[in-house]
Amino acid sequence: MRIILFGPPGSGKGTQAEEMEKKYQVRKISLGDILRSELANATDLGLKAKTYMEKGELVPDEIINAVVEKALAENEDFILDGYPRNLTQAEYLEEICNKLNQNIDLVIYLDVDEETVIQRLSQRRVCPKCGAPYHLINMPPKNDNLCDNCNIELIQRKDDNPEVIKQRLIVYLKQSEPIINFYKNKNKLIKINATQNKEIVFKSIEKELTNAGLFAA
Ligand code: AMP
Repeated sequence: MRIILFGPPGSGKGTQAEEMEKKYQVRKISLGDILRSELANATDLGLKAKTYMEKGELVPDEIINAVVEKALAENEDFILDGYPRNLTQAEYLEEICNKLNQNIDLVIYLDVDEETVIQRLSQRRVCPKCGAPYHLINMPPKNDNLCDNCNIELIQRKDDNPEVIKQRLIVYLKQSEPIINFYKNKNKLIKINATQNKEIVFKSIEKELTNAGLFAA
């Protein structure tokens, strides 16, 4: 199964990728998580990405493409979360897949309105260790502000503040949205209403995977 999860920040890509990884035992490749972990370890890559991430800008393609190329060479099946994010990356992904003799099966577009995105991101908390996402109201942790998996204190992402959220949405509209047509033209795009709760969204994804013969319910 080779899936791309696409959608604006706050559309639930990370949440759904995590559920899919657990259920289908397919590796989730989350670019945001990889970059945050590199940054926490103060690696070259993390430090190069830092200022872009803090401003809500895209990290340059050559840096990101190299990370993805390595991850794809190591994983025959995958769920890509947060890549591609512009047309150059989408085209580069085609090249990598050709080189590896692979094919993207489906692009799942999590469609959600701007108001919901802003509400979700401002209430989002994450685990600093495993990256699991929570929402203070819709998806709270079982125990007071502690990660269900790691039992450590949740934090708010630095880029989940109103100014950076605004910038991330501008970047999404300008740079990421054109990808929708790219994959529509390849008949790979499946649009899902992602304003609903995570269980309903997951069921919709599962239905599409079943229809595409990628998962037998
Ligand atoms: P995310 O966790 O997916 O919201 O990503 C957090 C930040 O990481 C983004 O705002 C970008 O700065 C950076 N990032 C993640 N994925 C990409 C990508 N495909 N291309 C460029 N920058 C990215």
